[in-house]
Amino acid sequence: MFRIGLGSDIHRLVEGRPLVIGGVRIESELGAEGHSDADVLVHALCDAILGALSLRDIGKQFPSDEERWRNAESFIFLKYVVGLMKDKGFEIVNVDSTVHLEKPKLRPYIDEMRAGIAEVLETDPNNVNVKAKTGEGVDAVGERRAVRADAVVMLAKV
Ligand SMILES: [Zn+2]
Repeated sequence: MFRIGLGSDIHRLVEGRPLVIGGVRIESELGAEGHSDADVLVHALCDAILGALSLRDIGKQFPSDEERWRNAESFIFLKYVVGLMKDKGFEIVNVDSTVHLEKPKLRPYIDEMRAGIAEVLETDPNNVNVKAKTGEGVDAVGERRAVRADAVVMLAKV
């Protein structure tokens, strides 16, 4: 049996915060505002997997008003979600995703993101695709006020 899931996320970009995307620290004067490390791609991925399992969403699993999640590494969330997936007898078939960020260019970081995410998902990096797009100067992404990510996953019953 196959299950498909969709996730999306957005974080405001502010000064004085780190920018972590796909578990990789990005060199940037603006960082993502949020309760955890605000990793927009990992949050979208968590929601995609939870969605495929019909387990609601990341906000339900990790309430942002809980102190223990403050500045938490989002990979902790993803590891937990992968545990839920395995408990239900599923494994990753593949992931596709897009990160929307005006600056800087993410291309130099993509392979490191894919490798780190694949490790947590217990799959091959070839099953994890990450695309990067700018906002072409329009909307909140283009105006450098936000970073967004979309992810889809396919799961298979082992
Ligand atoms: Zn988020």
